[in-house]
Amino acid sequence: MASHTEVTHDESGEPTTDSAEPESALETARRQLYHAATHLDIDPSVVERLKYPKKVHEVTVPIRRDDGTVEVFTGYRAQHDSVRGPFKGGLRYHPDVTRDECVGLGMWMTWKCAVMDLPFGGAKGGIAVNPKELSPGEKERLTRRFTQEIRDVIGPNQDIPAPDMGTDPQTMAWLMDAYSMQEGETIPGVVTGKPPVIGGSKGREEAPGRSVATITQLVCEYYDRQLEETTVAVQGYGSVGANAARLLDEWGATIVAISDVNGAMYDPAGIDTAAVPSHDEEPEAVTTYADDVISNEELLTLDVDVLIPAALGNVITEENAEAIAADFVVEGANGPMTSAADSILTDGDIAVIPDILANAGGVTVSYFEWLQDINRRAWSLERVNDELEAEMQTAWESVRTEFERRDVTWRDAAYIVALSRISEAHEARGLWP
Ligand code: GLU
Repeated sequence: MASHTEVTHDESGEPTTDSAEPESALETARRQLYHAATHLDIDPSVVERLKYPKKVHEVTVPIRRDDGTVEVFTGYRAQHDSVRGPFKGGLRYHPDVTRDECVGLGMWMTWKCAVMDLPFGGAKGGIAVNPKELSPGEKERLTRRFTQEIRDVIGPNQDIPAPDMGTDPQTMAWLMDAYSMQEGETIPGVVTGKPPVIGGSKGREEAPGRSVATITQLVCEYYDRQLEETTVAVQGYGSVGANAARLLDEWGATIVAISDVNGAMYDPAGIDTAAVPSHDEEPEAVTTYADDVISNEELLTLDVDVLIPAALGNVITEENAEAIAADFVVEGANGPMTSAADSILTDGDIAVIPDILANAGGVTVSYFEWLQDINRRAWSLERVNDELEAEMQTAWESVRTEFERRDVTWRDAAYIVALSRISEAHEARGLWP
């Protein structure tokens, strides 16, 4: 069972880092919150409230394994803030899932929904389990039992889960079914990222990668770079990395490296991204298609125009930040760098476009899915992609305005947009009772 990591604070309230331990998502998220708050004239009591999750649910999830034995897992749902609407965020199945990780990732969902101006708050949940060690039947039993355990605290107007690391549309279908069976009616809006045949949205799976590609294109435009003359390295070839790489490839960029857990395929002349199967199409097969294989660590330090970390969190740290040679880093994964690494990149004049903007296409199309479910009316793929493009453009413009007006980093600019909206909502609603 995963242990809890305690976050400590120094006298100023800033989290302190124990240098022996990698920074937790919660520490990074709190640091970013304090940092952004220093740029804004907001009520300190609102910042104080935002440091903590509203509620964290911890549940025990026993399942019968295929061999007849019973195994017990621990699941979480951390609900951070709901001032702007129901809690929203993914469910992660990964051995490293902890309470604090869910809280930190849930905070990022609050900012992500606010930066996109979606009527949602933030949450994240998960189970500390290695999904690769589960058969499909075991994964189904785990999902249904977990749903039963958190049933009272989720719902289309309360908290709406979605896919994240280790979960997929099939997982969401089991969740929707288990919830609906218990409620006695079909309730598609309880979860997003479902297969379209049961109320999922067209374009939802590709959406986080599509937004990463759209934001990369906008960044290139902003800095007067032609996409045709832009080289890109993408770490991770799952739904975020593969979709981002393929779209950028289609739009004219040269994708020189892509990777999975086994290593990276490298070709300075450009990779035909459509010819390499994504994780969903053929898991962990990238290197088997490569002539030239380099390590994931080498991929991160390639001298490219754009680096897109789209795999795990905390891959860019104090250890390797000095060696990052890209001009721009567009965060495809949630929290791919520690705050120390972020400062090093900023000092080195590397523009970092934050996760809460870049990969927000996922939750934005989740919002479209929720609207479709409530209205019982499916949208065409064209409508989904057009509306996503428009939402990304609007969010980019709000962030760009703060970036230019306040002369801050892109991350601070995105946080300023999000935090202003959230604190205004808190001030309007007040504290009661
Ligand atoms: N897990 C995704 C994220 O981190 C999507 C969340 C959602 O659609 O609710 O943004």
